[in-house]
Amino acid sequence: MSSTGFYWHERCFWHDQGAIGVFSAPGEFLQPQAASESPESKRRLKNILEVSGLIDELHVVKPPAATLADLKRFHTPRYLDELQAGDKAQGGNGGDCAPYMPGSWAAATQSAGLAIAAVEAVALGEVANAYALCRPPGHHAEADQGRGFCLLGNIPVAVMRARALGQANRVAILDWDVHHGNGQQAAFYHDPDVFTISIHQAANYPLDTGGFDEQGEGAGLGANLNLPLPPGCGLGAYAYAMETLVLPALEAFAPDLIVVACGYDACAKDPLGKMLLNSQAFATMTAQVKAVAERCCSGKLVVVHEGGYSEGYVPLCGHAVIQTLAGSQISVFDPQNEEIAAWGYQSLQPHQQALIDGWHQQWEQTTR
Ligand code: ZN
Repeated sequence: MSSTGFYWHERCFWHDQGAIGVFSAPGEFLQPQAASESPESKRRLKNILEVSGLIDELHVVKPPAATLADLKRFHTPRYLDELQAGDKAQGGNGGDCAPYMPGSWAAATQSAGLAIAAVEAVALGEVANAYALCRPPGHHAEADQGRGFCLLGNIPVAVMRARALGQANRVAILDWDVHHGNGQQAAFYHDPDVFTISIHQAANYPLDTGGFDEQGEGAGLGANLNLPLPPGCGLGAYAYAMETLVLPALEAFAPDLIVVACGYDACAKDPLGKMLLNSQAFATMTAQVKAVAERCCSGKLVVVHEGGYSEGYVPLCGHAVIQTLAGSQISVFDPQNEEIAAWGYQSLQPHQQALIDGWHQQWEQTTR
């Protein structure tokens, strides 16, 4: 029997952003359509686990929602009050592109509750590792505002709680969502004991954060690593970045817990990203981080679901990640895996290698 925890709750799928054209980009010629961040990619991941049978090998948990006390370790009371008031009225916008409708407070606190429970169970050794199927996502949310479809900072809330309760001390957070993990960066920018890494498409979202030169401040200098890759990066570029820079930096930090902010929008099928990964790439990255976790911290690894907007392809990528976490033999056939791998420009390109090599040299200077 696997000891991989799987944290989910149907209520998370009931979060409603409203239609595009109501909140995000009203315009005379924009026919309203469903928001990009729909529940279907996540619900279909849960469903494929049921159909393949993989879910029967997981320790399935429906934990309680996050409490206000837990949320207040990261978020300001002003922002939490505003969200609750909007939820009781007609909905609103949590900040920058974070629309919500009534009912979203319950979904968002439930989503944070999934991350909290997953981190606690792994930190305490109750399960070997865990996957939290969070929705709404969290990695863009900041202390005083929501951003980029994110209302509450699921990972910062969970990590701050675990550290406050003495369940973990040195935590590494690796974000491979195609968008910059600005929420984690801001939460721990001055903290030398939480290492935040983000590998993302340069200047996609947010536009004002995610540069390589953002490396932490004060005591936190050298505990934030951004790799803003150019659009069009595929299997070769991600493998090179992981093997030469991300994984060695992760291991050198010697965390006692690793959390992955796992977006799937760097996949080749995503409408909001311009990268070229397939499901095998997500499985490979998961195996690589799992191996580091086994060497550093008895395998303590929590994977938290973030973005990913291809309703058809996210479930295949997610299944590959969870199968790898669980070390299960239950796989599902991905009919697009080989096709995507055969696309042109999948190999490491000279301009990609030059960028990564340059960062590698500068990072060694920073952390010397
Ligand atoms: Zn994203």
